Amino acid sequence: MDKPEITTLALARSLNCIETIFAENKALRREKQFFDYLMVLDFEATCWNKTDYDKGQSEIIEFPCVLYDVVNDKVISEFQQYVMPTERQKLSTFCTELTGIQQTQVDNGVPLKTCLVLFHRWLNQQILKYNISLKFPTSFCKTCVFATWSDWDLGNCLKNECRRKGIIRHDMFNRWIDVRSLYVEHYNVKPKGLLGALNEVGLTFEGTQHCGLHDARNTAKLIGKMVNDGVGLRITKDISNK
Ligand code: AMP
Ligand code: MG
Ligand code: MG
Repeated sequence: MDKPEITTLALARSLNCIETIFAENKALRREKQFFDYLMVLDFEATCWNKTDYDKGQSEIIEFPCVLYDVVNDKVISEFQQYVMPTERQKLSTFCTELTGIQQTQVDNGVPLKTCLVLFHRWLNQQILKYNISLKFPTSFCKTCVFATWSDWDLGNCLKNECRRKGIIRHDMFNRWIDVRSLYVEHYNVKPKGLLGALNEVGLTFEGTQHCGLHDARNTAKLIGKMVNDGVGLRITKDISNK
């Protein structure tokens, strides 16, 4: 008679250390990822109802970014800045209701150009503190790239606004991970927004939807789950030559 095969899992079960095995697998998946850190961002922008007759182009009104530590599965630093729109300074009722962002918050905000200076200052602090490099491959530094829910934030919103306003955009904004496309590829479902994606994998949205900072935190939370589920983090979009 053949000997029954003793799998690692069966052995772990008999020794009562299943949890340890799973925890080790998850830790391994994190350490094997190409990226050590992600800068998860989610812009909020001016918007209008379909029926509003006086519509404009989207301008960023909230610029949040969270630094997510992939190996330790946690957000380790946050940046948030309200931005003053300059093309259409008055927010529509629809926009305020959707995002929760008040007119006074953008009136007291800074123009996009200043916001980018503040963002770079925060980013440089993180780069020094965690020995991060946004260029890769590198053997000395930790790897990091932007991650967003969909291509809209960096592929449309920031790019178009900078072009219209003559603002020079740093190279690093040209490459990112679209979390949505990795999600669709891995789970083979088209989620209804970030909220739907979280719910689909058994997570809840913490905070308020369409608050950029909360959206960014929840995107990081979703990435954590996706990594546990075996998703390999990789750049999905590069517009360097476009
Ligand atoms: P989100 O990250 O989903 O909060 O969306 C980012 C931005 O897209 C918002 O700040 C709005 O400018 C725009 N947006 C999102 N949802 C809608 C919607 N239902 N109608 C019009 N604009 C929207
Ligand atoms: Mg978004
Ligand atoms: Mg948002």
